[in-house]
Amino acid sequence: MWKDFLSLFLRDNCPLCQRPCDGTLCGDCDRTLLTYAFRDPFVYWREELPLFVWGRYEGKLKQAIARLKYDSQPAIGTHLGVAMGRAWNQSHPLPKLALCALIPVPLHPHRLAARGYNQAQLLGAGFSEVTGIPILPAGLVRQRDTVALYGLNLVQRQTAMKEVFEPGKDLKRLSRDVSILLVDDIYTTGTTVKEAATVLKNAGFKLSGVVALSTGKRSN
Ligand SMILES: [Zn+2]
Repeated sequence: MWKDFLSLFLRDNCPLCQRPCDGTLCGDCDRTLLTYAFRDPFVYWREELPLFVWGRYEGKLKQAIARLKYDSQPAIGTHLGVAMGRAWNQSHPLPKLALCALIPVPLHPHRLAARGYNQAQLLGAGFSEVTGIPILPAGLVRQRDTVALYGLNLVQRQTAMKEVFEPGKDLKRLSRDVSILLVDDIYTTGTTVKEAATVLKNAGFKLSGVVALSTGKRSN
């Protein structure tokens, strides 16, 4: 209780540099983070699965993502989601009246329980706040296949062990006229989002693209 009382008079420390600050991050870290933002976040907005990606997975941005995922700092998620949303608003390619909804790539329930939150959902919440695109936190769920592994060969085992996505309760009551933007924190090979995209397509939805905070891909 004393801690709660004192917190009224104490400023929090910036989770990235530990200096006292008034916002989620201190001004210096915030400015540094912006230097990792891509000049054109739509450079990969093409092909089968168009990708919007905010920044380079390096330095301070990499540090911020690690704090978000492994250090109980959920506020960093919404904060960076707002930055993504601002970049999106500047030049997004979707028609003005497009009916769209954000679906965060879900975590496996065990990981969600351990972390206490899904970082992709927090990014999506910040993004939604700025863009006005609604977010459906329970659009997809993730689970492991529970097929018995006995008697399966190696390939069959790998397939059975693979984490799979399924339509969640938000998706089940969503009109097929709404197209989906998947939200994730880091885009690497695209395997995860492709799996999620397949589930959405099989459920009869159109996928507008993927919105990611960060990628190690080079070329912009
Ligand atoms: Zn700082």
